[in-house]
Amino acid sequence: MRFQDQVVVVTGASRGIGRGIAEAFAKEGAKVACVATSEAGAKATADALADGAKAYACDVSNTESVENLFNQIQEEMGTPSVLVNNAGVARDTLLLRMKDEDWDTVLNVNLKGTFLCIRAVTRSMMKARYGRIVNISSIVGQHGQAGQANYAASKAGIFGLTMSVAKELGSRGITCNAIAPGFIQTDMTESLSEEMKEHVVKTAPAGRLGSPEDVASAVLFLASQESAYITGQTITVDGGLTL
Ligand code: NAP
Repeated sequence: MRFQDQVVVVTGASRGIGRGIAEAFAKEGAKVACVATSEAGAKATADALADGAKAYACDVSNTESVENLFNQIQEEMGTPSVLVNNAGVARDTLLLRMKDEDWDTVLNVNLKGTFLCIRAVTRSMMKARYGRIVNISSIVGQHGQAGQANYAASKAGIFGLTMSVAKELGSRGITCNAIAPGFIQTDMTESLSEEMKEHVVKTAPAGRLGSPEDVASAVLFLASQESAYITGQTITVDGGLTL
């Protein structure tokens, strides 16, 4: 019960990795603010968690929506001690076919959304002189991927943001770290070809795709008191795929 009564905000909590993260925090006593684009999606997760979880609809790429979200959470749940920036989208296509809106949507949700949520939570965390921020990036942000220039750029940007926030807020008891997942079984990877999935299974020393629980374990460590002296870092959770 490492997070007993702590307020934990998880964006993109309606499904996949975010839902796995929300469940793992709830199991350890946290009051989880489950955020998704729709009230129904967020509520589906919140209802499945322990008492104290609440659902919030928010578009993380929209400044006003994010400001309202954190004001509401502060009022209804109290000061968040953990923020997990997990909401993300992909619009994969080759560079020559990539439309401006494919670029803008992915950068706005994945990178600007992460910035907006961090900015919105910072003041209250600074006041409390405690906070844990965990940003979900990707191995694609470290290594690039054909057909994912927009996604890779957004996820690489998260590393720069993470290190800068770590430097800026470290003296206030706030850490900021990133996770770089490999191939995790969720809606996002559902559309991958069988060939690609087989390649991952054959190449990764772990011999399988990852699960949301695999990512959640690393998130909970970085969100815990035990990780106080770790900041600005990235933990890769890919079963050894990129070795
Ligand atoms: P997913 O199953 O597609 O779920 C995406 C989540 O993000 C949903 O809860 C969705 O909410 C939310 N979301 C999307 N746009 C949003 C917005 N504008 N505002 C608020 N919430 C928004 O994805 P996933 O596979 O679990 O991935 C979660 C994170 O891990 C993403 O950042 C992704 O880039 C990263 N990641 C995934 C993998 C992988 O293999 N799956 C690997 C590396 C990194 P709605 O349900 O309301 O749409």
